[in-house]
Amino acid sequence: MDAEILEKYRSAGRILAEVLAEARPKVETGASLLDVANFVEDAIRSKGGQPAFPCNISLDRNAAHYTPSPKDLSTFGESMVKLDVGVHVDGYIADAAVTIDLSGHDKLTEASKAALEAALDIVRPGADTAQIGKVIEETITGYGYRPVYNLTGHGLSRYQAHDEPAVPNRAMEKGTVLKEGDVIAIEPFATNGSGRISEGPINEIYGFSAPRPMRLPAARSLLKEITENYRTLPFARRWLKGERAEYALMLLLRSGAVHTYPVLWEVEGALVSQAEHTVVILEEGCEVTTR
Ligand code: MN
Ligand code: MN
Repeated sequence: MDAEILEKYRSAGRILAEVLAEARPKVETGASLLDVANFVEDAIRSKGGQPAFPCNISLDRNAAHYTPSPKDLSTFGESMVKLDVGVHVDGYIADAAVTIDLSGHDKLTEASKAALEAALDIVRPGADTAQIGKVIEETITGYGYRPVYNLTGHGLSRYQAHDEPAVPNRAMEKGTVLKEGDVIAIEPFATNGSGRISEGPINEIYGFSAPRPMRLPAARSLLKEITENYRTLPFARRWLKGERAEYALMLLLRSGAVHTYPVLWEVEGALVSQAEHTVVILEEGCEVTTR
């Protein structure tokens, strides 16, 4: 990998690790989700990065893709909190998540963390993502839980937060062989439920899909703002300014210019834990950028 690009991946990872460490103690029963999200996103910017996607704060059965709404009043209860953060430096992304458990389920929290560590132990050039999935599944079932079968880790590339290859959280017949220069996010999810997630009814995160001709000036300018500021990276409804923005966003959605990332929740309503790191595959092995 080009040295300058590697350095950008490293900076993004370093910023992310610092921000997660600073944000962790702010996640406590009674604290506001919106305050934590704002803290995380502001801290990323003050350290010289940009959010690669809105700060995800998913509670309990929600596995991913919740971010506070513009006037979110919700607070942490005795929740299983997944704090999932993305940082980019010039488009080069770091993606990592921790579970902060306020619900008294240490073992479930530990299961996804141990699965991530087991996966990181075998990542190197030539490793197969199917093997990584197998190690993750075996570790989580070893704790007496199930992985979330239909959620995966993923590749990262410039301004692409979800690229090939998929990194499964279960044993697969066929995977992808990793090679030098690949950048992947490994993110095991463990649950005390069925191991399936589906799309829930909440949409706070959006992303650009395709250019569309928009008649309304407010919709045209919002589309311009989105493509200039976020390109192909996800953004929050919360980030849009002005009252017309809500209406413009609805028009963009209807026209197919943008799409949503609905909240992903465990189908039975069971608890979900998550752990995630970003890894750069180097000639001699790999480097976790987000530690
Ligand atoms: Mn993530
Ligand atoms: Mn990820």
